[in-house]
Amino acid sequence: MERYIKWGKEYKTLIINIVVTLSFIALIAIFVIPDNSMKGAENVTYNQFVEMMNGNKVEKVKIQLDNSTFSFYDKEDKLYTTDNPKTEDFKKEILEKGIKVEEYNRMTTSSIISTFVQLTMSCVVITFLYRMMNNRNPKNLSDPVSKVPKVKFQNVAGIEEVITDMKVLVDFLKSPEKYTKNGAKMPKGVILYGEPGTGKTLTAKALAGEAGVPFYSMAGSDFMEMFVGVGAKRVRDLFKTARKNAPCIVFLDEIDAIGKQRNKNSHSENDQTLNALLAEMDGFEGAEGILLMASTNRLDVLDPALLRPGRFDKHIKIELPDQSSRLEILELHTKNKNLDNSISLEEIAKQTIGFSGADLEALINEATIISVVDGKKAVDIDSIDKAFFQKVLQGHQKPIKDRNDMEMKIIAWHEAGHALVAKLTKVFDVPKVTVVPSTSGTGGVTFTIPKKMGLYSKSELYNRVMVNYGGRAAEELLLGDEESVTNGCYGDLEKATRIIRSIISNYGMSKENGYLNLEVMGIRDSYIAEEAAKLSRELYDETVKILEQNKCYLEAIAEALIEKETVNGDELDEILSRVKPLEIIEAV
Ligand code: ADP
Ligand code: ZN
Repeated sequence: MERYIKWGKEYKTLIINIVVTLSFIALIAIFVIPDNSMKGAENVTYNQFVEMMNGNKVEKVKIQLDNSTFSFYDKEDKLYTTDNPKTEDFKKEILEKGIKVEEYNRMTTSSIISTFVQLTMSCVVITFLYRMMNNRNPKNLSDPVSKVPKVKFQNVAGIEEVITDMKVLVDFLKSPEKYTKNGAKMPKGVILYGEPGTGKTLTAKALAGEAGVPFYSMAGSDFMEMFVGVGAKRVRDLFKTARKNAPCIVFLDEIDAIGKQRNKNSHSENDQTLNALLAEMDGFEGAEGILLMASTNRLDVLDPALLRPGRFDKHIKIELPDQSSRLEILELHTKNKNLDNSISLEEIAKQTIGFSGADLEALINEATIISVVDGKKAVDIDSIDKAFFQKVLQGHQKPIKDRNDMEMKIIAWHEAGHALVAKLTKVFDVPKVTVVPSTSGTGGVTFTIPKKMGLYSKSELYNRVMVNYGGRAAEELLLGDEESVTNGCYGDLEKATRIIRSIISNYGMSKENGYLNLEVMGIRDSYIAEEAAKLSRELYDETVKILEQNKCYLEAIAEALIEKETVNGDELDEILSRVKPLEIIEAV
């Protein structure tokens, strides 16, 4: 039912489109269509007209308001035309002579008919054009059979975990019956998200290649058309083709272009396209063997409706490659290149922090071209350096962080601080710490919360705040004073503030304030703020103290980060046990 309403809406917009165009054409037509009402008239000079008028020979004058000539009939009903003097009193003078005056606008019966004919013609033309635009096949849809990609998983490097996830899907696509027989449903939608150039499209293609199924891809921007309703139609066409050729993969690149959160001000074309997509997704069962995949740089801008169960419910993050992944990608892209002995891919991997897979590929290609231009037999370190420099200069690349650079050091200490406080207070498990930049900021610590029902004691909440303060506190320890601390802790402070505010005002956790919800009590914000500031200072000082007492660990983790960029949970434990026996600092 919902679907019909949407269709109705779409036709309405189509009709509005046509009506607007037609009115425009009608306006033009009024000025262009020849006026036939003066056919067969004899042209005379104005003086002749005046003479005839004075001689009482004129029966009737017809004045067309927007014309430079007018016509008149003599007593024998013969028609003449002559110049219209357009003087103000013209009509008055004629009337005073007892001559009938008829004024009219352009639209005579004949002109109405010809306008009508022209409108009908334009209508046909517009409908035709509209059809043509709609039927313009979306990219890659014209020849589905040849669209089984040749790319395989072996063409993707450095994202093993993602590939492992994909392998199950390959089997699903190859033999859907196997799964549906047992009632298992193929996931309908998988979203790959992460920085541009990290291999999202490549991975989706490789999945199709491995499964031997066609790959239909369209970019979100392909759905954005100046004609309202076209995007929605394209979505339906895409699914129609996909249904015919299932099992297959439908890949929507940059899905954020259509899937942005709907709001009051949003473009209605967007909404319609998104609605069409949702309707299509709801209309098929996994059993059909269509796997819908999408990519986006950011998950958080997508409309929640897209991410709901039964739609794009599988989210796979692809991160910028860390050092070891970069090495794998470099190895893959230099396989068929003639490399000089001066090149150490390990060294290049080290120096390319922040590079995506696509950046690395481009770097190698650029270097290869440079080596050819320079007349070299092989790609040497000199060519790489030049390419590297060019890429940085062109600004395609984020500034490279030197390993000895202070900024790199600060980021490493900051992340190490979070991780160490988390380890020591045991509020979170820490599977991974990294200094590789991500969409959400520079570096990051992956925390997993030990399985709990969502109930936290006061000390657990305090510990959470301290984990958030850990980054800033570590920076302070590195830099020696509070003044030099960077703004990298912006997000951390926000999280800490939320927890503190809830502790003070909602959780009734303080004896002094009575076990009350201060907001319910209508306690002034300024009082809450005072209390929050007090608690915040206490917890921050405590965090600095903990890190100070364990500075050797902090340093060791930071150094490992500078060296390897990513430290996983086991390595973290190893560092902590290597430096000195782990002494657990009791939380406040
Ligand atoms: P995204 O879709 O994430 O923006 P693409 O898949 O379009 O990135 O990547 C562009 C190109 O960069 C790929 O075709 C490939 O040549 C290279 N590339 C990116 N990531 C990788 C990777 N992990 N392994 C190998 N090549 C990669
Ligand atoms: Zn932080």
